[in-house]
Parts: sequence; structure tokens; C-alpha cells
Amino acid sequence: MYKQILVGFLIIGTLGLAPANADTVIYRFAKIIDGTGEILDARDIAVENKRIKAVGNNLDASITGTIVTLDGLTALPGLIDAHTHITYGLSQYPDGDAWAALGTVERAERFEASKINALKTLQTGVTSVRDLNADQQLDFDLKKAINSGEVPGPRIYTSGPGIHPFNDPLPEGMEAATADFLRLATSRRIAMGADWIKVFGTTGSASDLTSRAYYSAEAIAAAADAAKAAGKRITVHTYGPEAVDAAITAGVTSIDHPVGMSDQQITAMASAGIIYVPTIDHNRYYAQHGSEYGYGDDIQANLHVFVGRNIETARRAHTAGVTLAMGSDAVLSGFGENTCELKAFVAAGLSTAEAIQTATVGGAKLLGEENNLGRLQPGYEADFIAVTGDPLADISAITDGVMMVMKAGELVIDHRADPAQINKPNCGTLY
Ligand SMILES: [Zn+2]
Repeated sequence: MYKQILVGFLIIGTLGLAPANADTVIYRFAKIIDGTGEILDARDIAVENKRIKAVGNNLDASITGTIVTLDGLTALPGLIDAHTHITYGLSQYPDGDAWAALGTVERAERFEASKINALKTLQTGVTSVRDLNADQQLDFDLKKAINSGEVPGPRIYTSGPGIHPFNDPLPEGMEAATADFLRLATSRRIAMGADWIKVFGTTGSASDLTSRAYYSAEAIAAAADAAKAAGKRITVHTYGPEAVDAAITAGVTSIDHPVGMSDQQITAMASAGIIYVPTIDHNRYYAQHGSEYGYGDDIQANLHVFVGRNIETARRAHTAGVTLAMGSDAVLSGFGENTCELKAFVAAGLSTAEAIQTATVGGAKLLGEENNLGRLQPGYEADFIAVTGDPLADISAITDGVMMVMKAGELVIDHRADPAQINKPNCGTLY
């Protein structure tokens, strides 16, 4: 059914074409996998003016353009990382004091390191990120530098500073954040130009795996109302189930991290269409890079337990029909490992095609860009990657095989001359 519709669309799309455009390029792959995880009956993608003009076979018969043959490579949409901290960067990997170093380093060094994180992200095949918590305007400035073409990097959806007791200290005399307090906190982010509102609904971060609520359901609902009134999306961070009910009632777009959600919560998320961003892999990352953070054996063991609980919660949510999105929660040396989350999803019982969806159509739905990103269809942004191997047989073809990355029609990564440069992260041994 799907393929019939597609073929019909292509015929309409390739008849009566405009005169030859010298800037049209036809990329000819061995295989094309759409964001749905389906193999298309097509080998060519024609790109013109930053967008996909057509997808089909032998497009050069109807379209005049340069043909670029990519023997043996498979195309997929550019990937979407729905949870990053791209501005958390240092010029060198720290030795046990990563968080202290991040807190004291000069802004200029942070900004340079952010640019490196951006490039490392592209190397993983990620062409769009939702970045959730940044200070000193670093996310806005990095986005500007990328959009102006000054530095290579993914499309960034910003949040500015997340709403958190640290960023939003209560005024004297206020015992707990009121609805008005969170509404004002939300308005400040919108005034800064944030694309998203992030509310830290609970504790929990890095080695702290607790989940104590920071805000009342009324306060979170007020933030959500203010965000939506301004046309912005909102997400809630919660390490356990503690802030999940408040987030569902508030009608957020996504919920990030939680383990141990109840069946009732999972069912409510599924019926409300709220997207779950489990960020399973970041705790594997913290354990594996424990020496950079000063995390010893006990902390590493706890992080591994949390990964297991996260996988089980993702498995239940997926079975219940909740849409999942790939969020790495990458920080510092985690950039370059952004797509290890796909392996965690396969461990949680997703098929390889479903794992692909989390980083394509799932991420696009989360961003409200489902008609623009995450698919290889005419009219979409020309964001695609070329991988070696078969990602439907083994998801490692994506984590370890990104040969080429195109973002908005521009080749931003190209290892064809030296495939040894392909990014191959160590995703550990948990999955
Ligand atoms: Zn995070």
C-alpha cells in the first residue's frame, strides 16, 4: 500500500519538470531506507535547492543533473538526537573532575568545545538535535554560528537554561514554586528565543539517580500553558515516575528519562501521543567513562542497574504503543557516541526498523517537523546519510558505518577518500 502511494507520487512529481537546473545532483545509492524503516523501490535521490526533489529509479532519464554514484552505500534520513547537551564541552577530557572543570572553565573555551561537539555529532549521522539546558547563551550562539555557515554542525532546537531550582532560585519567603513563578520562568525562556521549554521535574543527573519532585503538578501545568500559548513545545525531565503524571496532565510533548513508569502511566502516554525519550545509553556512557568523572565501582554498578531498568521501561512503553525518540543525553566526551542509544533500543526489543524510526520519524514528530525532517521524500530537507553495511540486519551499520552526511543539501561529512576516518564509537558491552 505504502509503496503504491509512493510510486504514484513520484510519477506526478517527475512529470512536467522545470527546465534543467545546473545545481541539481542525483545521488545513486545501492539501497534507500526511509525513516519508516522500509526499503524503498528506489536508488536515486535528486537534490535541488537544499531539498529532496525526487526519489526514484533512473532519475537522470527525467531530471538533468550531476550523478554521484555511491556504490555499496545505503541511504537513510539524517538522524535526529532528541536530547543533547551540546554546549557541555572542555578542550580536553578531564581526569576525575569533569563537572567541576565544566563549572569553572571560561566561556570562550566552552564555545570552542561546543563547536567540536557539533562536528562530532555530524560524524554520527545526526543532522538535528534538541538541546536541553545551556547557560551563557551558548546554545543560541552555537545555533547562530551553524546557521550562518560559520561552523559545521547539526540543526539545533534550543531550550536555553532548563527550569530548575538552580537556574530559578525561589524568592525569599516562597516555600515552593508557584504556578505563577513557573509561568514567569517560562516567559523568560521564550523572550530569550528558546525553541523549547525544559522543566526539570525531579532530581536525577549523572551519578545522582534519585527522582524527587521539584515542582507541583499545578506549576508544571502553568509552564506548559505558557509554552503552548507562545507556540513552543515543552518537555519534562523525570528520572522515575514522580513527575510523569504531572507531565501527562499538563499535555507536554515529551517526557525524558523515566524508569519504572506504571502501566497506567504508559497507557496514558500512548493515548495522549506523548513521546518517550528514555536516554538509556547515557548511563552506560557515565559508567564507561567513570574515570573522567571520578565515578568508582559502586557508582558504575548503580549506573548499570539503572540502564537495565531503563531498558525494561522502554520495552514496556514500546509494547504499549508509545512513540520513542532517540535521545543520547550526550555531554563532554559522549559526543561521537550519540547513536549508541539505537543499540539500547534493539536490546529493549525494538526491531532494527523500529530503532531507525526513533531517530527519524519519531524525532521529527517530537520536533513538529514530520513534514520536513526524518523521511526521504520529495519536498523534505535534503538531510541524509550514507552507511556501509545493512542497518536492517545489524544496527551497527549506523553506529559504525557513517561514510557520508548531507545536511540541507550540503555534504558536511565525507569519508569516501579515507574510510578509516569513519566514526566507530565504543558503545560498551551492555547491549
Ligand atoms: Zn539531559
